[in-house]
Amino acid sequence: MIRSEQLFDEARQFIPGGVNSPVRACHHVGAVPLFIESAKDAHLHTADGETLVDYVMSWGPMLLGHAHPDVTRAVRAAAEKGTSFGAPCAAEVELARAVVEAVPGIEMVRMVNSGTEATMSALRLARGVTGRTKVVKFKGCYHGHADAFLAAAGSGLATLSIPGTPGVPAATVADTLLAAYNDLDAVADLFEAHGDDIACVIVEPMAGNMGLVPAAEGFLEGLRGLCDKYEALLIFDEVITGFRLSYGGAQTRFGLTPDLTCLGKIIGGGLPVGAFGGRRELMERMAPCGDVYQAGTLSGNPLAMAAGIATLKALKQMDYAALEKRTAALAGELADILRGKGLPVTLHHIASAFTLFFTEGPVTNFAQASAADTDLYAKFYGAMRAGGVNVAPSAFECAFTSFAHTEEDFERTVEAAKKAVF
Ligand code: PMP
Repeated sequence: MIRSEQLFDEARQFIPGGVNSPVRACHHVGAVPLFIESAKDAHLHTADGETLVDYVMSWGPMLLGHAHPDVTRAVRAAAEKGTSFGAPCAAEVELARAVVEAVPGIEMVRMVNSGTEATMSALRLARGVTGRTKVVKFKGCYHGHADAFLAAAGSGLATLSIPGTPGVPAATVADTLLAAYNDLDAVADLFEAHGDDIACVIVEPMAGNMGLVPAAEGFLEGLRGLCDKYEALLIFDEVITGFRLSYGGAQTRFGLTPDLTCLGKIIGGGLPVGAFGGRRELMERMAPCGDVYQAGTLSGNPLAMAAGIATLKALKQMDYAALEKRTAALAGELADILRGKGLPVTLHHIASAFTLFFTEGPVTNFAQASAADTDLYAKFYGAMRAGGVNVAPSAFECAFTSFAHTEEDFERTVEAAKKAVF
């Protein structure tokens, strides 16, 4: 038995499903989870001795590549000085300043420990500020695993939410109103019906959790307009897009300012971090200067802050446009190769993220994304893995490139795709 199978067997005795987050399970693609020994630049070294070119990149945080020397050095230096204080430290101020300077919609920011905490806390703040309870979310958008966001549409009726998992009370998601991504009319209808009760609209400004689905022309502007009209808050969940679509995130790239912004992943450089921020008068409603409570023993953790500061400093020097161009070329070539094999492929690409959907498309929302052929994707996964390339073990994810991916890495990826048999 190979090492990863041994580890997986053992893991399943002590950890549900053998993994600490379900997305790591690889059963959808007929594989055991990757057990990683180490990672450097764009490469994963597995417990089985494989070296893989990585396009998961920890599901987004590693935009600089794995084990970037500046980040590693910063974490090591911080660890020498103590791993947690439960009291403020200068690094928190420095990272907060860097985030405020980079992200137009953020005048003040609070650090938390994950994207889930960021969205959960932003929702509480939106409800606290507006005195309203309902939240509009989009089908296929993921905002972490807090109860209010785990709603799926029931019986095709967008406004009737049923919990997406046992354990979430129906009453909790009764205040979660659902609309299809890119369907502005549906959101307008929700506001028409519930305008006085809607605290906020939360949206991924580029959907990344049903595969990559871009916001259609005018969609985000339309949301901004509706929120303004009904005095609801617009929340951009930039946990994926923050510091990826541009240094200032999706809002800089698209020139649109939300009321609140959620961040995660990249701002922690691979350590557990999230953050939410917004206009000063909104953020000052947070305890202790305001009345909306939120807290965290490990929030603003010195190791995480050090990793975040080093990551943002390095990213600021990077050529985002060049990486975008190289990523477009790679994604385009992969799509051409797969189409050349007679497969239906819809390619979406922005910045350093892309998704190849195995469907003729178009893919503008979750229903259309769900039409993609998951069996074909499983074969694609297997072929890429055999060729030394790690793509997500699910058809509905982004592939992420990083500043550490070399042309050689891309060539290896293209070769693996060429060899794939379906
Ligand atoms: N929002 C978005 C857009 C995400 O992609 C994710 C994680 N994939 C989250 C929130 C939740 O973040 P975390 O897993 O750090 O709780």
